[in-house]
Amino acid sequence: MSRTPLIAGNWKMNGTIEEAEERVASLLPRIATVEHADVAVCVPFTALQAVVDSTRGSQLGVYAQNMHHEPSGAFTGEVSAPMLTEIDVHGVVLGHSERRQFFGETDKALQLKVPAALEAGLIPILCVGETEDERENGDTERRLRHQVQEGLEKVPAERLGEVVLAYEPIWAIGTGQVATPEQAQDALAFVRALVADRSKEEAEKSRILYGGSMKPGNAAELLALPDCDGGLIGGASLDIEDFVAIVEAAKG
Ligand code: PEP
Repeated sequence: MSRTPLIAGNWKMNGTIEEAEERVASLLPRIATVEHADVAVCVPFTALQAVVDSTRGSQLGVYAQNMHHEPSGAFTGEVSAPMLTEIDVHGVVLGHSERRQFFGETDKALQLKVPAALEAGLIPILCVGETEDERENGDTERRLRHQVQEGLEKVPAERLGEVVLAYEPIWAIGTGQVATPEQAQDALAFVRALVADRSKEEAEKSRILYGGSMKPGNAAELLALPDCDGGLIGGASLDIEDFVAIVEAAKG
């Protein structure tokens, strides 16, 4: 099964609307002829509408960085899936480790968010990954099993392949410390095997990304791994030259 790689830039909480528009204006001509990969940017809520408008008709996907599972209600400060689809957002990052660590995001909440995103027509990117302590204590697989099984539990088996998974070792995010190709491949293959426990067919369709200090210098090696179907890129996605170099590295 050939899977189209996805290269997604996570801008996190960075930039004004004007800066977001400038960034996509620089990016669009650089990816206009890219056919080997899907390219997306995960944008702060305030800049989503502007980025959707300025990328209409292009192949750049526009993703949010979080959402609530309910379509509406008394949830002050939250944004729902229908609110994102109303402005033509394509997808949403769910369960990023920064949300788990700083905002109390739980696997139970993700169990509701992932199917809610799919039902609304958004592509969810479900992030999973272990801490440094968990890796050192030999708990990586236990942690990944819990996160993947809980996060996908309420997704119907026949839709599992529509969920993008991102394996992001927490110790590698924003640290410059990247997983070795062996560590990354083992974890990516393990995540795919967990999806296969629910549906072998869907697991072959699942795009599983690596995230954690992916840069132009290490991207080609990681993206060439048999179970790596792209990257979730934080820091390097704010630099257009670096981001475009990573998109190019997905060519193989
Ligand atoms: C991320 O935020 O998902 C990420 C992988 O960040 P960085 O590339 O900066 O490590």
